[in-house]
Amino acid sequence: MKKAVVLGSILCGEQRLSYELVQKPVKNINIHVRADGMIIVSANRCVPISEVERVLWEKSEFLLHALEQLKKKQALAPPPHQYADGEHFRIFGRLLTLQTAAAPQVSVFPDEKTLLLSSPQPLPYEQRRYCISQLLNQECTSAFQKAIQEAAVLLADRPIPSAVNLRIRRMTSRWGSCIPAKKIITLSTRLLETPWPCIQAVALHEYVHFLHADHSAAFYSELERAMPDYRQRTRPLRALPYSFFYNE
Ligand SMILES: [Zn+2]
Repeated sequence: MKKAVVLGSILCGEQRLSYELVQKPVKNINIHVRADGMIIVSANRCVPISEVERVLWEKSEFLLHALEQLKKKQALAPPPHQYADGEHFRIFGRLLTLQTAAAPQVSVFPDEKTLLLSSPQPLPYEQRRYCISQLLNQECTSAFQKAIQEAAVLLADRPIPSAVNLRIRRMTSRWGSCIPAKKIITLSTRLLETPWPCIQAVALHEYVHFLHADHSAAFYSELERAMPDYRQRTRPLRALPYSFFYNE
């Protein structure tokens, strides 16, 4: 059965709460607040809008609190990049400071502590942004491909696919995903900001999903057989603050 999306809003005191209602074959009325602050409701098509709004109104205190928390979280995030001198980026867990310099050719070069953007003349914002984004994309591609290849080597004696399609996306609620049937592994651009051992561990985690689709005991035993310190490596990933990410 097809899904239908209805947009609406309810008034709670002074505040108008906008919601997106997804009508699909579900049993209950489900409500959650998306990262962009939109309230997402799913309900069966036979539930009247008035009933959906009554439930929303009943939960308005909870929703207002959740939206307030979201605002606080967003306030902690670094301000948007201007791609100017002194701004920070992060690759493999290392904080890099952007430095612009004059040089005959346009180039971006990351070293231990700096991200050196060279050009004959100072570049406008759009071009600075383009150069840095290109570099970060290239870094993601080469690091993630390497991690995926290494994971395949660790699982070489297991029935894994010989070729995998790697996708790179900005994902904020997880580090990676795997669609075994399509041989697709997706890794989050955010992973580039974490240390290399974390990237290796996440790549392997996704690869092991070709053997076990779920997170069963068998899945973890396969994972730890290939990478005994898997849990140690991924521990830092569980406690990263929202303000950790610099590249986006
Ligand atoms: Zn998983």
